[in-house]
Amino acid sequence: RAKSTGHNMYCVYEKHMAESINTHLTLGGGLRKAIEEEQFVLHYQPKIRLPDETVVGAEALIRWEHPELGMISPDRFIPLAEESGLILPLGEWVIRRACDQLQEWREAGHPPVKLSVNLSSRQFMQVNLVDMVEQVLEETGVDPKYFELELTESMLMADAKQSIEKLHSFRALGVTLSIDDFGTGYSSLAYLKKLPIQTLKIDRSFINDLGLDNDNDAIVKATIQMAASLNLNVIAEGVENRSQVDALNHYDCQEVQGYLFSKPLSNVDFLLYMQSHGLSNVDALVM
Ligand code: C2E
Ligand code: MG
Ligand code: MG
Ligand code: MG
Repeated sequence: RAKSTGHNMYCVYEKHMAESINTHLTLGGGLRKAIEEEQFVLHYQPKIRLPDETVVGAEALIRWEHPELGMISPDRFIPLAEESGLILPLGEWVIRRACDQLQEWREAGHPPVKLSVNLSSRQFMQVNLVDMVEQVLEETGVDPKYFELELTESMLMADAKQSIEKLHSFRALGVTLSIDDFGTGYSSLAYLKKLPIQTLKIDRSFINDLGLDNDNDAIVKATIQMAASLNLNVIAEGVENRSQVDALNHYDCQEVQGYLFSKPLSNVDFLLYMQSHGLSNVDALVM
């Protein structure tokens, strides 16, 4: 009996493994071709200013439009791109596409908004990253103050000294810097103070439980207060309901992003979103 259970378990396990290895191979193998053929698209999730709830900008989020498998989320292929090193050309494509997009919106007659892109750790370690970003900004004509990079704490911890130097080079270009998923890493206050960053983005996991758990609320409140005392802008990600917005307003959080306002949108839909919602005076806000 034990043996047959063991056998069944083995079968289930094996099937599951085979499936995940298969998708791994299919996706991983297709990635290089996908980059050549530009099978990717950026979606834009609005960032909203509090308390007036005007649009201040967006976060660019990549999707893979796979010819057979349909839309694939970044959680499934960014790790593969990291492993294979393909994140370098892919990451450059994202930066270029985002900058082109900013210019296209302006050409469509829209007032400026901020646009952020995510970096991955291997990309952040790339030696000529700053030069590449500088070149793309120049070629596209984007004013760097509207361009923001989202980095994670773990990315910076790998080589703290070199990371700080890199951040300073980005600041010298005039781009703004944000710490994504803040609270999930191990940054100390002392370390944070050394970083030439402008924004903290509070991780969704803390926002999820807002109003449900007093300890969690205390963390969010303290993070917002700490950001204020360090002169940092603060944004909450993953806002899904009104009671979370009420709490964030109460704690004086400056910006929010989440499904309550909008899911990530195609470029056309984001333009429509900006046109139907009020815009913040972005120039008064960029640092
Ligand atoms: P992230 O940078 O923390 O992005 C936020 C993720 O949360 C996005 O998922 C977004 O769609 C999702 N989200 C936004 N609002 C809500 C909400 O109210 N509730 C919930 N449950 N989720 C919400 P997405 O687009 O699947 O991206 C996942 C991650 O993939 C990103 O996390 C980022 O780390 C990475 N990523 C996305 N685009 C890029 C890229 O161009 N380059 C790199 N290196 N990484 C990227
Ligand atoms: Mg992000
Ligand atoms: Mg995030
Ligand atoms: Mg995240």
